[in-house]
Amino acid sequence: MRIEEVASTAKSSRVSPHTHIKGLGLTPAGDALPLGSGFVGQEQAREACGLVVEMIKQRKMAGRALLLTGAPGTGKTALALGIAQELGTKVPFCPMVGSEVYSAEVKKTEVLMEHFRRAIGLRIKERKEVYEGEVTEMTPVETENQGGGYGKVISHVIIGLKTVKGTKQLKLDPTIHDALQKERVSPGDVIYIEANSGSVKRVGRSDAYATEFDLEAEVYVPLPKGDVHKKKDLVQDVTLHDLDAANAKPQGGQDIMSLMGQLLKPKKTEITDKLRQEVNRVVNKYIDEGTAELVPGVLFVDEVHMLDIECFTYLNRALESSLAPIVVLATNRGMCAVRGTDVSAPHGVPVDLLDRLVIVRTQTYTPEESIQILAIRAQVEGVALGEDALAFLAEVAEETSLRHAAQLLTPGAVLARSAGRGEAARGDLEEAHALFQDAKASARQLSAQADKYMT
Ligand code: ATP
Repeated sequence: MRIEEVASTAKSSRVSPHTHIKGLGLTPAGDALPLGSGFVGQEQAREACGLVVEMIKQRKMAGRALLLTGAPGTGKTALALGIAQELGTKVPFCPMVGSEVYSAEVKKTEVLMEHFRRAIGLRIKERKEVYEGEVTEMTPVETENQGGGYGKVISHVIIGLKTVKGTKQLKLDPTIHDALQKERVSPGDVIYIEANSGSVKRVGRSDAYATEFDLEAEVYVPLPKGDVHKKKDLVQDVTLHDLDAANAKPQGGQDIMSLMGQLLKPKKTEITDKLRQEVNRVVNKYIDEGTAELVPGVLFVDEVHMLDIECFTYLNRALESSLAPIVVLATNRGMCAVRGTDVSAPHGVPVDLLDRLVIVRTQTYTPEESIQILAIRAQVEGVALGEDALAFLAEVAEETSLRHAAQLLTPGAVLARSAGRGEAARGDLEEAHALFQDAKASARQLSAQADKYMT
């Protein structure tokens, strides 16, 4: 499996307002610190989430999910992210909004499934080898094409390499054939081969070695010329969705051909159920062999009341799967209709799913807490702010939401800078506030002047 070629497709944009959150900020006994891991206040919810983390670690959350309820901007997303961070580094966190499932092109359950797979990580350990030596032999070994096509195919290539320790024969995968041809290698040349259990990653001539092979400084120890270099175990974290995507769209032809890719037809452009099953099969094999380890992450579905009955049915079933992430749902709705039905239910969530949920409520912040949170955000975003300005932003937060107030930080700083001031003053933020409406004010205005707009 050429995992090292798989680029992460993590969605970073929705996490950026939470860069200051580093965990739940709890003591070893599980009590919330007044300020810990970037978290301010919201003690009860943080402690409850800490308990959920314990349940997850003890595998007591299987088949269940967490529902966070509370007003906008009270830290529901931040709590879900904190849970993922408490579960360990490199634990995937995949945020989405309920309304994301509605698209003209993609089925609702398909969108949910993709997010599920983005939230399941895989830690792969692999051993890489680097060989250096003079080529003494290059023998492509051919077999009949089993796939019903014509002619013969190269099944592997035997390379003779003369190293200082003597001549050795390497049996390598067919991709080396193209790589050697591309490099115009012939017997007598000194080459380098980077491989992983016989699967060739790269080939190069000795002079290009250092630059062409991105050897990590800490693992590469130059040995006397002609020797065999061994690289240490390499650990890489990917998600199931990364693997789906890499196999659906092989880039660079032979280069990215992975063991998994070879199982499937190349040039696929769509992630299908069949492809996912195939990825699961290979992943399970790697897990059984001990080369890979599953890292269930956190799938966060904000505004869960936007999902409809079909999605809820899917969620219910998906929670049972052995390849399920931790599911955290959030809403600010009370009693409302379950979409796609005329039944009302708490939070717009059907009763059979509600039965599986652990519910945690978030509280609105005091002005002091808002000031503290905004000060942290200002620091993270590199915005210098006067006390007066901070107090004004806290008022805005109370009137609108914390998120909207935090969003005024950067425009405020830009206004200050263009006026030649290094520190944003209250006036700058007032101006930013006047220029940018929060969602509620914008909606209010539109409905008040509805007769002036086309419908
Ligand atoms: P919505 O209902 O609109 O989705 P939310 O409840 O998910 O909102 P967040 O987006 O988590 O709220 O919070 C808004 C901003 O305030 C984010 O930048 C978040 O990181 C920060 N924040 C919220 N609560 C806290 C807290 N207790 N400590 C530190 N930062 C916080």
